[in-house]
Amino acid sequence: AKERGKGRHAVYDAELEQHQAADAQLGAELRQALDRGEFSLVYQPIVRLPDGKWTGVETLVRWTSPTRGFVGPDKFIPIAERTGLIVPLGDWILRTALRQAMAWVQQFGDDAPHEIGVNVSARQLREPGYAETVRDALAESGFDPERLVVEVTETAVFDGGVALDALQMLVTLGVKVALDDFGTGHSSLGLLRTCPADTLKVDKSFVDGIGGRSEEAVIATAMIQITNGLHLQAIAEGVETAEQADTLHRLGYRFAQGYHFSRPLSAQQLGDRLTESMLA
Ligand code: C2E
Ligand code: CA
Ligand code: CA
Ligand code: CA
Repeated sequence: AKERGKGRHAVYDAELEQHQAADAQLGAELRQALDRGEFSLVYQPIVRLPDGKWTGVETLVRWTSPTRGFVGPDKFIPIAERTGLIVPLGDWILRTALRQAMAWVQQFGDDAPHEIGVNVSARQLREPGYAETVRDALAESGFDPERLVVEVTETAVFDGGVALDALQMLVTLGVKVALDDFGTGHSSLGLLRTCPADTLKVDKSFVDGIGGRSEEAVIATAMIQITNGLHLQAIAEGVETAEQADTLHRLGYRFAQGYHFSRPLSAQQLGDRLTESMLA
């Protein structure tokens, strides 16, 4: 038995090493990808319930590698975080998104998405001078700081100290803060007292099971009561059906996001949709 145990360890170690080597390889490719301009951004509309009017967009990064093809952010963002590439990549994402948002304002005026959300990793918040980077990017773009929403996860806020200080400085600039994937991870309602959040993004896992008398529906109801009580906004994520949208609206949700309303769109596609709706 002892021998077998050792053997298992050896297999496990070999697998781990393979994983690490693969991650290191991907990390090196990611760095090149940024230099070679292989990243792009898409924007998913956030809508008002029940009429589906666009109120904002969330920026999502995409990587198309010449050798690997499309690679999802769930795969490469964690590696970018570990290697630190998320800092320059995140900087590029923010600047590109702000430039795009300002272009929409210039082209579409009041019909442009009012708010633009950008995902920010804990690793970025901990970077010295992060708030100054955001301030400079905002100034460069000319975009109204109050229309920028920084999406952070609970884990980032739990990092405490430095990350929380950075968030606080962003709030001072007028930037809004959304707590992403709310209800997953190591959530604690106590967090809502320390985190300067304006908005809770209620995770898709609660929206999925919202039909019927499920536990998810009970939780989704409790979450909207908490947000209302604390004068926060709630956005339901991952809404895929009309039934879910109806139920959410009935429970008191006023904002939502998901494939039922729109998939993430390229800047071009989003511009086309805005042009169409202005002509309509
Ligand atoms: P997230 O911030 O929770 O983003 C929402 C994810 O849900 C996106 O996946 C979006 O395409 C997907 N989604 C939206 N509506 C629906 C729906 O109705 N059904 C389903 N099944 N999915 C839906 P995506 O773009 O693959 O991003 C995955 C995660 O990668 C994001 O989760 C975020 O954590 C991270 N990520 C994406 N872009 C960035 C970025 O620019 N910076 C950072 N730091 N992280 C990012
Ligand atoms: Ca997000
Ligand atoms: Ca989310
Ligand atoms: Ca997520």
